[in-house]
Formats: sequence, structure tokens, C-alpha cells
Amino acid sequence: MYSIDPTHNAYLYCLPEHPMKKDASAFRYLSIKKVRKYNCFTIGETILLLYRKNKYGPSGIIGFCKVAGELTKVSELLEQEKDYCFNSSYLQLPVNELQCCISINIMDEDVLYSLPSMNNYGKFRLYTECNLINIYTSVLFALMNHSQFWFIWKTRRTELEIQQYKQLFVHLEREKIEYKRYLKLSKKVKCCQICGIEHQEFTPYALQFFEFHEMNVNLIGKYEKINYNKFIPLCANCHKIEHEQMVAQSSYDNRSFSSGFSPDRLLSGWNTEYFNKEFEL
Ligand SMILES: [Zn+2]
Ligand SMILES: [Zn+2]
Repeated sequence: MYSIDPTHNAYLYCLPEHPMKKDASAFRYLSIKKVRKYNCFTIGETILLLYRKNKYGPSGIIGFCKVAGELTKVSELLEQEKDYCFNSSYLQLPVNELQCCISINIMDEDVLYSLPSMNNYGKFRLYTECNLINIYTSVLFALMNHSQFWFIWKTRRTELEIQQYKQLFVHLEREKIEYKRYLKLSKKVKCCQICGIEHQEFTPYALQFFEFHEMNVNLIGKYEKINYNKFIPLCANCHKIEHEQMVAQSSYDNRSFSSGFSPDRLLSGWNTEYFNKEFEL
């Protein structure tokens, strides 16, 4: 599964071509068109790689790599190093430890841009190739949560089912309520709005009894700002049933596992010729 170091910054980079077109060893620089207000890059920071021309499915994050040095002008690179740049007229950021998928996204682009962490504090969106933006590390946490759904993305499911699970994932991300907000919301709650089970008012530092379920929003597509008036208090059981209903049309017929399933199918060393032939990259 995808794991991260939450103490670092995180970036999102839009790839001009599939990195597997090159050998792993040749993926050494991200060519960057424009430098916005970047702080100094720190070695080891995570860069998520967004790829749009994926003919196997929707565009999305196909892998990640790590910052390996400072942003460099091409004129400062050795002549032979320029072969490792996507575009040698831009600035170059040295990277290493690339890991990526061939045909499966770590996260689809529509899901990425539906996350509260990508929208809460101003909009983050990458429009063009060879661009890099600084994103919040909370996006990396969302990515870790998303990887718990890999059994869905990795098995043969219908489009409808995948769409439902995507919505459930975004729904769960939207329902992550910080403690202070929970205190406020639960102040006057007496009972579950579905089954009516009663519980004494929530008191701080006690276990949380009620959960808050968001109603009637567009989950994927145009981001809707979170409005806590749309959250209703439910007991844990009723809340789970609501979530179950979001994926109620799961089709059992299609639930066969694809062969060779493994959550760590991200690749870091590869043979370019093989991939070119096998996947026509
Ligand atoms: Zn209930
Ligand atoms: Zn819910």
C-alpha cells in the first residue's frame, strides 16, 4: 500500500509522457515550465505524478517520485544529463525513487479534484503538462485512505460500481470532522435521525456516540463547499447502512479477482522494451 512521510511537503506534477517510455534509470529530471513561489525543495519530498493520456482508463495519478536535489537551470547540467530531461529548455528538478503503475491509477483525476483537501483552502488544479504545484500533505493522507479501496479498483467491476465506490470514498473524506467541529455539531443531538436511538448529550473527552452523515451533495465533479447544515446525526449502525446503500448496486457476478492481484504492483525498475511492446506506450 501507499505510505508517506507526513512531515514533508507534497507536490503534484503533470507528466508530458508516460515515464515507462524511458528506463527507470533515465527518469532523473522533471522539466518545469514555470517556477511559482516554491520554497527550497527538500530532498525526499514526495511528488505525485499525474498523467492524462492514459488509454487504459481515466487520467489520474499514476505514480510518485522523490525530490533528489535543488531546482536547476539546464545550463548548469552536464551535456549528457540533458538526455534525462523531458524538455531541455525548461528548469529541471532532480528526482529519484520513481514508482509507478502501467495501466492503473493510484487515484483518478476526477476523484483527486473532488477531495476537500484539494479545495478547502483555495483551489489546486494542474492544467498543463510540465507544471508542478505544491499541495497539502493532507492529500497524501487521502491517498493512503484511497489505497484501502484498491481491492475495488483492482478487481473486475462494472463502471457503475466503480463510480459508486469513488463516491463513497469522497463522501468519507468529506465526513472527516475535526474534533472542535464535532463538539459543536453534537451539542444538541439527542437521537439518531433514522432509528431514533437516544443517547445522552455528548460530553467532551468521552467516546463519540453519534456520527455525522452528509446529505445531498455532488460528490464527484464540481466541488461543493462543505456545509455542516447538510450533516445529520446518525448512530454508527444507521450510518454504516447509509454507506452500504451508496454501493448497493454492486454486481456480484463481476466480483472475480483479476489474476496476479497484488497491492504493491507499483514498479520502480523496468525494462522499457518490454513495456513498449506489451502496452504500446
Ligand atoms: Zn440509528
Ligand atoms: Zn456518511
